[in-house]
Amino acid sequence: MSRTDAPGTAADKPRARPEHILAGMPVSPGIAIGPLHAASEPALDLPLVRAAAGGAEAEYARLDDAVVKSKKQLEKLRARLSVLPEDSQHEIAPLIDAYTQMLSGSRLLRQARRRIAEQKLTAEAAINDEVEALAASVLAMVATDDPATRQRRADDIAAGQRRADEIRETGRRLLRNLTSAPFRNFANIPQGAILVAESLRPSDAALIDPARVAGIVTEEGGTDGHTAIMLRALAVPAVLGVPGLLAAAKPGTMAVLDGESGRLTLAPKAPTLADARRAMTAYARERQRLARLRRLPAETTDFEAVELQGNLELLAELPLIAQSGAAGIGLFRTEFLFMNRETLPDEAAQADTYRTVIEAMDGDCVTIRVLDWGGEKDIEALAARGLVPDTLDHNPALGMRGLRMLLRQPDLFETQLAAILRASRAGPVRVLLPMVTNVAEVRAAREIYDRVAKRLRRRGEKLGDKLPDLGIMIETPGAALAADALALEADFFAIGTNDLCMYTLAVDRAATEVAALYDPLHPAVLRLIQFATEAALRMRMPVSVCGELAGNPRLTPLLLGLGLRSFSMNATNVPRVKQAVRAVSIDDCARFARRVMEQSDPARIQELVHGFGQGKKE
Ligand code: PEP
Ligand code: MG
Repeated sequence: MSRTDAPGTAADKPRARPEHILAGMPVSPGIAIGPLHAASEPALDLPLVRAAAGGAEAEYARLDDAVVKSKKQLEKLRARLSVLPEDSQHEIAPLIDAYTQMLSGSRLLRQARRRIAEQKLTAEAAINDEVEALAASVLAMVATDDPATRQRRADDIAAGQRRADEIRETGRRLLRNLTSAPFRNFANIPQGAILVAESLRPSDAALIDPARVAGIVTEEGGTDGHTAIMLRALAVPAVLGVPGLLAAAKPGTMAVLDGESGRLTLAPKAPTLADARRAMTAYARERQRLARLRRLPAETTDFEAVELQGNLELLAELPLIAQSGAAGIGLFRTEFLFMNRETLPDEAAQADTYRTVIEAMDGDCVTIRVLDWGGEKDIEALAARGLVPDTLDHNPALGMRGLRMLLRQPDLFETQLAAILRASRAGPVRVLLPMVTNVAEVRAAREIYDRVAKRLRRRGEKLGDKLPDLGIMIETPGAALAADALALEADFFAIGTNDLCMYTLAVDRAATEVAALYDPLHPAVLRLIQFATEAALRMRMPVSVCGELAGNPRLTPLLLGLGLRSFSMNATNVPRVKQAVRAVSIDDCARFARRVMEQSDPARIQELVHGFGQGKKE
């Protein structure tokens, strides 16, 4: 698709203009072919005068008026949702909720009113200043130069950026209503055009009719923001963050947008167009096939049932998990409950959140992992309690993290266990302990677990006779190699291949200089997975994989061949992994795994894995 024309042969023939290819971040797959259409937003000119001439009461009234108008616009937007595909509705509705909440007694409005009163500002100036201050404080919480927290999980940073975007978006809406400036108009986009913009906000994405627009490309933006999530939900091919886009992409120019590779080809030649059309057809077929899979069982060709579950990090992912066909949640990372806040959530607040998740799974099991703090995961509320890992003297990844920290902070641990037990009445639940290295830790955790249950029963809480299973993450080489002993203490294993790979190969994924050494297919990592799996299977104990490996369909045959039958992953990967499961037999997988496990060269293992099922000789 990216080919350019061969140079002309006749000396006097004018040289054909070569195709121009730009590249950005692929955020929503699919191919679009069509003319470019620029969607520019009318400038928002704030009045230069910041001091209120008519006094605070008049500015309060103007602000109240803008709030009422903004709420009405959001209500209209919500009414329009019903015409969008179901997936998009699930993505967009929570955003509209967030904007609406910010227009009802929020800190943004309270502080803006305070600025009007104390600084004698106009409503515009007060909103503008407060939005910037609030967004900056949210971003400061997640972005830091402190080496101890620099490796903060990318997810936390993305969540902070999304929150800041929501604040700015609400501010922009209020300012447009205060200044009567027009909003961006997406109504006159020609049918089948590729929309070009400098940037796109989530609320813009909500206004786009997916049946009208062939594709979307912007100069700014990234893969983790709400806009990207919504474009994926709208199923419109999209590429964000294309440097030089606005300068190169002239409106009306024909283009091919590839949402899989992240490329935009301007003025495509005939062979590129033919390639793009073929890719479009193949992609449409692939989507149809995957959608049909949702209702089909996850079983191999020889009818072995395989459990495919979703990983949950934010409540916003619940609809995606439900739609993916996942059979429950195999890893609920509870860290998000503790982040971006000054105080820790109490037992009742935690129980509410766990109940919401359990009820959303409608009878399918939810595996709730207790707080995995430490290492690269950093939580302000805990730091405020003085629980700061000693990063000056020690490597934080090898220090106070996960279960080690919880055993040192029994009140924190007990509160979370009590909340989970209380919520467990809403449906099937399991409790998962992170960062375990020895049997004493598991015994100590179980003692606390039993004690908490006893206390709840004394309080009159009706818990079942049998408490939810208490399992452990196998994510350190020590735990993997002691899996036979740990299997006597735990009710189930969840193999965390992300940390297991990091600790086995002594490679931090965030360190770019050694990133190439991070290889989950290294024989050492595979042997640890095999050892832990076999220990669990000998004890007839449930074992699953919940690291990134689980969501990679290329690795499904190998993992099945090692004896694993349960995988938990990002919801979007569930249909592809299901497809991989349904294409293989357990016999073939077992033979293949034996072949792989004989190898000691990681490059050869890669070759075998990529060759599986492609008629290539193993
Ligand atoms: C893992 O380490 O593989 C895992 C699933 O846990 P987390 O990614 O949350 O550390
Ligand atoms: Mg881990």
